[in-house]
Amino acid sequence: MSTESAVIQAPPLPSWVDSHCHFDFAQFDQDRETHWQYLQSMGCAGLIIPGVTAATWPKLIQICANKPWSYALGLHPYFLDQHQPDHIEQLQQMCHTHTPVAIGEFGLDFALPPSTFLAQRNLCEQQFKLAKQHQLPVILHARKAYDEIAAMIRRTHFQQGGIVHAFSGSVQQGHALIKLGFKLGIGGAISHKRAIKLRTTVMQLPLESLVLETDAPDMTPAFLATKRNSPISILLIAHIVASLHKRSLNDVIACSNHSINQVLSASVRYQLL
Ligand SMILES: [Zn+2]
Repeated sequence: MSTESAVIQAPPLPSWVDSHCHFDFAQFDQDRETHWQYLQSMGCAGLIIPGVTAATWPKLIQICANKPWSYALGLHPYFLDQHQPDHIEQLQQMCHTHTPVAIGEFGLDFALPPSTFLAQRNLCEQQFKLAKQHQLPVILHARKAYDEIAAMIRRTHFQQGGIVHAFSGSVQQGHALIKLGFKLGIGGAISHKRAIKLRTTVMQLPLESLVLETDAPDMTPAFLATKRNSPISILLIAHIVASLHKRSLNDVIACSNHSINQVLSASVRYQLL
């Protein structure tokens, strides 16, 4: 037997997509291209990158050109002090001149000071209306606000669906959002030792309604030694979900890919193995 034929070929990695990362953030400016080469060598077929402020949309759109990266455009509640009244009008214009796959990320974050709640609610509702008008799905950020955001979806008769990213609510809240046409984003939070409740919840929610995400460069999972999170974490997050659901890694990734294509604008279609 020749040494060449004795080489064991590792099975090919399944093609995967990170449904939520901020690959446009400055933390990736130094090595975005080389890191992307590495991600591709590990099976990454695409990234969904949501926008967070009007000032960052142009860079986001520019970096997605000629890459299998899709962008969404939105006004994130974290950056309330950076949003101006005319940014909704700008978003409206951008939807005519560009091709976001969703409006987002936007939403409600009730971990922020209560003095911001009214402005958050207004901004959130305006973006639901805009997404409805443009028949686009949404990428939602919700913290301590699942019931209220579900109520807003019903009140605005929003029917385009989307993704509730970094879901950490209860099984009931998860089912309510699924019923409203949403998929639930599952990320590195499930890797932390104390996240027992979240892991139990994920176990009880249907795999067909879960999408994998990293929120990189933030939300660094417990297993990552680096401070900067990366879309590469998808593989290990998928492993945890696979063990919770007693399914194969390939099943979990295939379900997530299918859900992403199902729920986001028709222009997202990744070439998957
Ligand atoms: Zn995010």
